[in-house]
Amino acid sequence: MENTENNGPDRTGRRNEAVRAAVEQGLLSADAPIVGLLDVIGIRESAAELRAAFEAVVAPGTPVLHAFAVKATPLVPVLRLLREEGIGAEVASPGELALARAAGVPPDRTVLDSPAKTPAELREALALGIAVNADNPQELDRLDALMGSATSRSPIGIRVNPQIGGGSIGATSTATATSKFGVALLDEGAREWIVGAYAERPWLTRLHAHTGSQGIPLSLMVRGVAETYALAEEINRRVGRRQIDTLDIGGGLPVNFASDATSPAYAQYARLLGDAVPGLFSGRYGLVTEFGRSLLAKHGTVVARVEYAKSAGGRRVAVTHAGVQVATRTVYAPASWPLRIAAYDGKGLPKSGADVVQDVAGPACFSGDLLAEGRELPLLEQGDYAAALDTGAYYFAHHYAYNSLARPGIYGFAPGGGAGGGAGGGAGGGEGSGQETDGRVAFAVVREPQTVAEIVAESGGAHASALTTLAPTGFPSARP
Ligand SMILES: *Cc1c(COP(=O)(O)O)cnc(C)c1O
Repeated sequence: MENTENNGPDRTGRRNEAVRAAVEQGLLSADAPIVGLLDVIGIRESAAELRAAFEAVVAPGTPVLHAFAVKATPLVPVLRLLREEGIGAEVASPGELALARAAGVPPDRTVLDSPAKTPAELREALALGIAVNADNPQELDRLDALMGSATSRSPIGIRVNPQIGGGSIGATSTATATSKFGVALLDEGAREWIVGAYAERPWLTRLHAHTGSQGIPLSLMVRGVAETYALAEEINRRVGRRQIDTLDIGGGLPVNFASDATSPAYAQYARLLGDAVPGLFSGRYGLVTEFGRSLLAKHGTVVARVEYAKSAGGRRVAVTHAGVQVATRTVYAPASWPLRIAAYDGKGLPKSGADVVQDVAGPACFSGDLLAEGRELPLLEQGDYAAALDTGAYYFAHHYAYNSLARPGIYGFAPGGGAGGGAGGGAGGGEGSGQETDGRVAFAVVREPQTVAEIVAESGGAHASALTTLAPTGFPSARP
């Protein structure tokens, strides 16, 4: 059995090498003061750990689809890498579906969940044969109409909310009594309605629940799956056939933001599920999972240059290029989403030296734009780099355009294959298609940095006089 608690040191080493090489190869510089870095080996390892964790507990031959929650890291090259590792896609908008298709994720490895699907989205999903989980009775009505007029290969299920309660972060707790997601299972009449819905529709063959994300204790996640399993058993018993053949148990494994270790591990969660819900892995149900954060978070790093280092009221403040635009949750809700910060010098080498209490600030024009407040770190000085760790999910891929700050470039890294200009050789070693290597670390462009021209274009640049030429009627003109 793999020991997933032990991959921390390797991960730290790979990250340190990548930061050094990013500076050496010019991806990071005074003119390119912020990047997102993705650890390709780490992503592959997490995908392999996920597959192995379930392979170890399910009955032989049980179909298991791990569908990555695209929401967590909506980047086409990441989805392609995961596809190569045997992972499908869970999508929740036309944009996410388009990303999954651009990455080549096949329809039979794609699942559509979202609380606000339009008729057009549902029609497209059924035409493609993508699995759909209906959120509520009104959506089921729409599916009735579509299923009546066409045949589809799409497996269809209903999402339930087992209402088992929330975790420590309200915004990511999806199974509270009043959550907006799914059919609230404990509400009066809901269970009977659900059983009736399956009895009337032989094409409803799946049952789905996703009971929360970061902040939910494992025991609560397990309870959510147990309630879902019990409901499927009841439905199949009462309709008198094994109509539900697949359980979609959602995602939500919490991530450890406090060290480089992976904990909890997928293997631990799978064992807990097997102990608490023995029938789940018996082979009577195929399984779908929808993990997002736990697959990617540990493999991403934002690295930002310290533009200025100052002191205010006795507090040291490093003003960097990473703030609310790449770490929105952390900046707005720092108590729920603290991030570790690593200090590197101007050559990209880890800083040593005594810890100093300091603020690590971002570039945005409001005082709360802090990556870390009162943090003890080796003193960050002008020209150093601050790295925000564990930011591979829901951080730099989730740009927030405050102050029209540009989306940073994102680069994947892996140990260099020895090609290129050798260690120490500037930005050499280009191999076409955006690859750079110095023989020790190779980089590939995942997303180009946004340009200022693109910001203007996306901000109505083509419509500059749209408002001044819109002739108002019935108002006296300000300019006679
Ligand atoms: C967000 C979401 C996920 C993934 O949650 P993570 O915490 O990133 O693992 C899975 N399923 C659904 C329906 C979601 O909304």
